[in-house]
Amino acid sequence: MKSYYDIVGDGGSDILGQVAAQQERVARSLSGVRTLLAVGSGKGGVGKSTLTMQLACALRELGNAVSILDADLNGPSQARLGALQDRMLIPGENGAPVPMTQTGIGVVSMGSLVPEPRSVEFESVSSGESHTWRATREFSLLRELLACMNWGKLDYLLVDLPPGAERIVQYAELLGPAAAFVLVTVPSDLATGVVARSVDALQKTPNRILGYVENMDGYYCSDCGQLKPLFPAGSQVKLDLPCLGSVPFDPELAALCDRGGSRSEVPAGVSWQPMRRIAEEVHRRVAERVPVPEEKT
Ligand code: ADP
Repeated sequence: MKSYYDIVGDGGSDILGQVAAQQERVARSLSGVRTLLAVGSGKGGVGKSTLTMQLACALRELGNAVSILDADLNGPSQARLGALQDRMLIPGENGAPVPMTQTGIGVVSMGSLVPEPRSVEFESVSSGESHTWRATREFSLLRELLACMNWGKLDYLLVDLPPGAERIVQYAELLGPAAAFVLVTVPSDLATGVVARSVDALQKTPNRILGYVENMDGYYCSDCGQLKPLFPAGSQVKLDLPCLGSVPFDPELAALCDRGGSRSEVPAGVSWQPMRRIAEEVHRRVAERVPVPEEKT
């Protein structure tokens, strides 16, 4: 089988030129964004999407302008979390305006463009070969979403990443060396072991990892009101990263996620104060040092 290196020329597509032009448009479109912050894990189902929206709401409450790009094109959650299903992106003079939640969080998600339960299809050159094209098409679409939206002036653009520990490097490349990362895990060796792979992969990039958030670290017992563990204690896998905070299992939050309501509906929910503290910690770490690639040796 021939590799890319064996192929002479680009068939006249000027593919490298196209990518460079798109990258320039992305840089222009993101010029008003102060902090690009990717929320990833490597593992699925640990609460990345949920905590991305919660973090956005908490950062907003601290006075920041925040939007979210849902980079999980095939399993988008942010449209539902923000109650923004069926919200078309309509091109404007300075790019397409970003749809807003009731609480003022901008959200760009495939979940607004492709209604459930339809799957997101990517046309491929020949049937049965979609896997060959899929990653290329996905990253091209993500670059296009970054380039064509009118992001405006933002303190934070949060990027909700799909699962896949090794692929996290591709998102780091897409977002550039100034993008910082927050990783989400649950306190089990199974999940944290995969997150450790993401850390290993990211440590080979110039990007900064602010730390990790431990989600669903326990639940509040309705009888005694104490925080009780959800997972076995004594985890063997440790992440060599600062812990930004822990969030308990919050049944009100789970219900809110499903119906995509406003955060202010459950201000007393058990997860909200921990989320506020995590947002403060994230904000403090972002402010304490401008992440430039040279800082990592
Ligand atoms: P991921 O993005 O990592 O795949 P999700 O954010 O989609 O995970 O979360 C998976 C499920 O767990 C969702 O139904 C969500 O509502 C629920 N969930 C996540 N974190 C919490 C939490 N702290 N309390 C209650 N439910 C949660």
